[in-house]
Amino acid sequence: MKDLIIIGSGPAGLTAGIYAERAKMDTIVIERNYMSGGQIIDTYEVDNYPGLPGINGFDLAQKMREHADKLGVNFVNAEVKRVEDLGDVKRIYTDKEVYEAKAVLFTSGAGHSKLGIPGEDTYGGKGVSYCATCDGAFYRGKDVAVIGGGNVAVEDAIFLARGSRKVYVVHRRDELRAIKSLQEQLFAMDNIEMVWDSVATEIVGNDGKTSGVRVHNKKTGTDKVLPVDGVFVAVGIVPNTELFKGICAMDDRGYIIAGEDGKTNTPGFFVAGDARTKQVRQVATAVGDGASVVSSIDRYLTTGEW
Ligand code: NAP
Repeated sequence: MKDLIIIGSGPAGLTAGIYAERAKMDTIVIERNYMSGGQIIDTYEVDNYPGLPGINGFDLAQKMREHADKLGVNFVNAEVKRVEDLGDVKRIYTDKEVYEAKAVLFTSGAGHSKLGIPGEDTYGGKGVSYCATCDGAFYRGKDVAVIGGGNVAVEDAIFLARGSRKVYVVHRRDELRAIKSLQEQLFAMDNIEMVWDSVATEIVGNDGKTSGVRVHNKKTGTDKVLPVDGVFVAVGIVPNTELFKGICAMDDRGYIIAGEDGKTNTPGFFVAGDARTKQVRQVATAVGDGASVVSSIDRYLTTGEW
């Protein structure tokens, strides 16, 4: 039996792995992806992680993984299928093996929200994308649309505008949610057109490929189709916590309820990173969570107190 099983290997899971290794806990980190890093793998530029301005997300993930490897953190590539609470023992069923531990840390992060409109699934991978850095190169010299007004939407639009002919940013309000410095960069680009107060209502296509996105202007009540080859959806994130339902309490959006100490309402289960209820979801806060939760886990393993 292990002391600790960490589920997920984004910045929170990798940091917790490093701290747990240094605390001499017998730990494994279970990751389902072919590589560590979580959401930052797809981030072109991380510009607010102290000490590494402008680093590519993929490179930052690699550095964190190399750090963990150097210290001897034990990684297992498998997909968790079920989590069982047997009191002092926690059992984790994966698609490969069953593992047991005294404590479990959820660092399963979050994934992309969908729009839920007609055509989104039909044209998924055929013009509809949730990752500008992965798919942007297919739209060099073409017209594309980004849906959303947060940091990710604005970063995606800036990234796409460097290669695409024209980028529409479709936002449901008349003000962006993204931080001001990103907004300034966005508004300085002359091939970006803002489509304010508008919601995407349908992805339209031709010959099995995306040919446009229908948008509805909420203020004027008018509809139009923006003729684009690619639609990049950036309307927020949803926590990857489905597996942990029934194990620990969550809020109405599916985030696991816990404070900075990462303690859930169920003894022996901890959470860190984007899957936790918190105000700011960034690499720096995920790393902070990963570090602080290990001291709570250490206390639990040593005293058994919750
Ligand atoms: P986000 O900040 O939640 O923004 C989502 C955007 O999509 C908002 O503008 C929202 O509109 C819009 N939206 C939501 N549902 C929609 C719908 N059904 N139809 C149309 N528009 C919709 O999410 P995010 O940009 O994906 O970022 C995720 C998290 O990562 C955030 O916590 C973000 O701060 C963080 N992040 C930080 C950085 C950074 O610090 N540089 C970079 C990337 C990500 P409203 O504005 O009207 O609500």
